[in-house]
Amino acid sequence: MPLRVLVALVALTATACEHPLEVPRDPGVVYLAALGEVPAAELHRAARALEQASHRVVLTLAPIALPTPTADGRADAGALLDLLLRHAPDDTFRIAGVTAAPLRATEHDSVIGYARRGERALLYSTAALPGYSTEAARRRTVRRIVAHEMGHTFGSGHCRASCVMRDTMNPNAIELMPDQPCRLHRHESDIGLAHGIDHPDFLADVAAERTRLGQWDRAIDAWRRALAGRPRDARMLTSLGVALMANGELTAAKEAFDDASRAAPEAPQPYYARAVLYAAGDRPERAEPFLEAAVERDGDPLRAHRAAGILYQDVLDDSKHALHHFEAHVRKGGRDREVITRLTFLLSPTTLVFTDPETIVARWQPGRGLLIASLGPSH
Ligand SMILES: [Zn+2]
Ligand SMILES: [Zn+2]
Repeated sequence: MPLRVLVALVALTATACEHPLEVPRDPGVVYLAALGEVPAAELHRAARALEQASHRVVLTLAPIALPTPTADGRADAGALLDLLLRHAPDDTFRIAGVTAAPLRATEHDSVIGYARRGERALLYSTAALPGYSTEAARRRTVRRIVAHEMGHTFGSGHCRASCVMRDTMNPNAIELMPDQPCRLHRHESDIGLAHGIDHPDFLADVAAERTRLGQWDRAIDAWRRALAGRPRDARMLTSLGVALMANGELTAAKEAFDDASRAAPEAPQPYYARAVLYAAGDRPERAEPFLEAAVERDGDPLRAHRAAGILYQDVLDDSKHALHHFEAHVRKGGRDREVITRLTFLLSPTTLVFTDPETIVARWQPGRGLLIASLGPSH
């Protein structure tokens, strides 16, 4: 069996929050950086808008060089967000980038601004903005873009026309965008603003962000700091274990998963994680009971059979059990495309041969279950 690196990013479900909504006087800073060359007036507008949206101190960092643009001459917005996060100082509440380069994103050929939900980075491009003749109109446009992208960092999605979270691909339509969020999105941003950089929910978001970037040491540190405030949070304990596992600290990872199961005996995630831990280590035969225990606890049998089948097939090289779970998925009414494809493959295994060792990422996503993706060959 080829060497595999296994990483499970588990459980990012939002937790209910009943904290007072005043803005804390904590040391969290909003940082601003030019990505490539940006006129000083443009940075000034961004800084003003960030101050208004965050009620925090805004500090400007040294400009960051733009990476090579994609084939169509645009900069990849997702890659720029990652670049900002890698430049973020330790006391970052949010980090914003402004660029003159046109942007593209995975889902769209052209975007004005970009942010990932629940992560700390946001950015926008001045390339497509209308050339308003008055400074007031320019500031208003930037203010709306910043409020919108900041809203995504607080976890907000898109909304109807009468909210600043309204989606727009047309720069001229920013004129039609309201300045204010709706009640729901006001509430979400109030919570986000109220969480200082030492709040467990804030630290959990930072830890998840670092985990996504593969910064295991820094992710472990953030999970531990988050857990100091919530020592029996099963979701955080499981996620800490996942980061430890990714960092090769298998004994500590097992302890974290045990703690998670003690805190929440019925939660399936720590069991999935233990299954991945054993499968990744030198005791793959121990994975099966944990995987079956996870499926048993999972409230959604379709996603459970899907996840178990994929783990058996990709991680444990056990086609027999994989087939059993994929068939159970279909028998119970599931029609997931990935499951159908894999089932077809298992029933006629000569069509495909995998030889390269792979890096596999498993991620628990609310509402969708355990998603397992291949990151391609590991080196
Ligand atoms: Zn948006
Ligand atoms: Zn809204």
